[in-house]
Amino acid sequence: MVFDMQFKVRKIAVLGGGTAGWSAASMLAERFRKHDVQITLVESPRIASVGVGEATVPGILGVHRSLNIDEREFIKATNATLKLGIEFRAWNYSGGRFFHPFSQFGAAIDKVDFHQCWNRLNKEKRYTNIEDYSLCASLAKAGRFALPDNGSNNPLAWYGYAYHFDASLYARFLRDYAESRGVIRLSDTVHAVQKNPDNGFIDTLHLESGEKISADLFFDCSGFRSRLLGAEMAVETIDWSKHLPCDRAVAVQTESEGPLLPYTSSTAMSEGWRWRIPLQNRTGNGYVYSSNYIDDEQAENDFLSQLSEPLRTEPRVIQFKAGMRKKFWEKNCIAIGLASGFIEPLESTSISLMHTGVDKAIVHMPDLLVSDEGIDRANELNRLEYEGIRDFIILHYWASKRDDSQFWRDVRKAPIPDTLATKIAAYMENGALLQYPQESFREPSWLAMYNGFELHARDCDSSAKALPIEQIDTLFSKMRSAIEKGVSHAPSHADFLRSVYD
Ligand SMILES: Cc1cc2nc3c(=O)[nH]c(=O)nc-3n(C[C@H](O)[C@H](O)[C@H](O)COP(=O)(O)OP(=O)(O)OC[C@H]3O[C@@H](n4cnc5c(N)ncnc54)[C@H](O)[C@@H]3O)c2cc1C
Repeated sequence: MVFDMQFKVRKIAVLGGGTAGWSAASMLAERFRKHDVQITLVESPRIASVGVGEATVPGILGVHRSLNIDEREFIKATNATLKLGIEFRAWNYSGGRFFHPFSQFGAAIDKVDFHQCWNRLNKEKRYTNIEDYSLCASLAKAGRFALPDNGSNNPLAWYGYAYHFDASLYARFLRDYAESRGVIRLSDTVHAVQKNPDNGFIDTLHLESGEKISADLFFDCSGFRSRLLGAEMAVETIDWSKHLPCDRAVAVQTESEGPLLPYTSSTAMSEGWRWRIPLQNRTGNGYVYSSNYIDDEQAENDFLSQLSEPLRTEPRVIQFKAGMRKKFWEKNCIAIGLASGFIEPLESTSISLMHTGVDKAIVHMPDLLVSDEGIDRANELNRLEYEGIRDFIILHYWASKRDDSQFWRDVRKAPIPDTLATKIAAYMENGALLQYPQESFREPSWLAMYNGFELHARDCDSSAKALPIEQIDTLFSKMRSAIEKGVSHAPSHADFLRSVYD
């Protein structure tokens, strides 16, 4: 290996066999299948994976497509269900509800953005629920599912979807995938790491069995402990807890009862919020809270009192901190998954961040050639992506009107980054939806939040003002009817899964 501005990768080691490790191994094996590169993954038989992380965002479809994963096989193997978005309950105030769909809202009228026409109606006090203009949100509300028709020339038919799945079955599914493409798996624990004293690059992982793994490039997928990037390369974490104080979750699995919903639910609680993730055979639940406001025992009691379905597992507390590593790639070490940072799972973004992290690594080592320039660029893009998600999550707290506990009063007043303040100000002024580079959440997602938290723009842009109000009303009514018709033709989520995947 050459230790200057660039080096060629012939051997890759992946540390960790959770979702991050097996995702990285699968994506690397597929992408570099025609290259002369050896990939070895080591996972400890005695250090458990975090065991949560079961809701995703639509980007996973593209990742699966690039891996040529058969959707039916995947759904069967992981007890997966389909996800059209997230329902937020009691976030703005007790009793309130709104939906964040994986879609845009409505269709433009005479090239004027739909949301500006909607702002115009609001200005004229002709209020109408924006969710009725998303087929995705309307299907979810009705508990139905149909595949989108994204090739259609009617934008009302376009939407995305994602999955809920069993995290351990998913890791197992990807393990089979990666092993069938030549990835070598070692069940062992790294107890020491040898670095090159001249340049600080990682050289060798020493395993408890006595075996050693040498490689040119190391993927640290060791979870929160970040055994390589954090512990060995001493890359610090940027702490975001002043913006996002939740630092604990208690998680439990329950039996499935009632209709199988095609979305994740997030319900605000007095010191945080709880999730509900429906799988085919069970439901995943968790309460995310801040230990500054409630202790673990009380949190567990409050949480369990909200669950109506019988428990399948013992409740388990998981600790975390909001933040990201200053760099996710240092020298010949790249952190993916929890080893690279964590933002609470309010919008199910961790698995997506791990996929885009591996992608950034792949794109920035063309032909397996690593350069300082590529590392710097990948780190910059990763930072922007993380910060964009951070801002979007902070908005959920900042915009809430809850004041029923000290937790809510404090989070609503917590400082917000300038990037977020600028966005909110632009929207409030005249409905402008600013988008920064590398943001995961696009305009419709921000609009869903502004709508859900009843942040209404003071004005609309001049193009919407130029449209006759009756024209807007008539076309809005037509859009609503088309969507209602689409929903009436769709099967229930459970029937869809049965008919297509049985
Ligand atoms: C409460 C909570 C809820 C979440 N919900 C979601 C969600 O809904 N959606 C989402 O996208 N993400 C979610 N996440 C994040 C998601 O769980 C993780 O991104 C995902 O599971 C990946 O974890 P990981 O593979 O990085 O780490 P882990 O699952 O912890 O895996 C670490 C691996 O490293 C191995 N290891 C560690 N040290 C060593 C060593 N010394 N030697 C050998 N092996 C070692 C372990 O054996 C294990 O295989 C959630 C996270 C939390 C905390």
